[in-house]
Amino acid sequence: MAGGKCLALIAHDQKKNEMAEFARRNKDQLSKWKIVATGTTGGRVLDAVPDLDVTRLKSGPLGGDQQIGALISTGEVGALIFFVDPLTPMPHDVDVKALMRLAIVYDIPMALNEATAEKLIPTLHA
Ligand code: PGA
Repeated sequence: MAGGKCLALIAHDQKKNEMAEFARRNKDQLSKWKIVATGTTGGRVLDAVPDLDVTRLKSGPLGGDQQIGALISTGEVGALIFFVDPLTPMPHDVDVKALMRLAIVYDIPMALNEATAEKLIPTLHA
C-alpha cells in the first residue's frame, strides 16, 4: 500500500454477487491494497477471498457511504469501486450522491460498474 491510501469497495444489494466475482477474479490485485468497504459488501468480499485486508465500515444505509466519503476528504482513499444498482430506489440515495460528489471533488479514480472496474483495476498501483 503506497502512500497509505486504501481502495474503497461498495456494491448495492443487486450487485453483490458481481462484486464477489470481481474480487475472486482480481484477488491478486486486491491483495496489494488495504481495502475499506461498506459492511455487507465487505463481508461478501471476505467470504469470496478470505485473505484480503478488508476493514468493514457501517452498512451503506446506516452511514457507510458517508464514512467512505469522509475518508476521501481526508486523503485516505486511492480509488473507489462502487457497483451501483440503477434500477432500485434506495433510502440512502442522498448519501450515494454525496459520496460520488466527493470522489469527483477530490478527483479519485471511480468505477461505477463492472466493465469500468475491470479496466481500472490493472492501472491502479497500491
Ligand atoms: P452494504 O452497503 O455494503 O452494507 O450493503 C452498500 C450500500 O448499499 O450503499
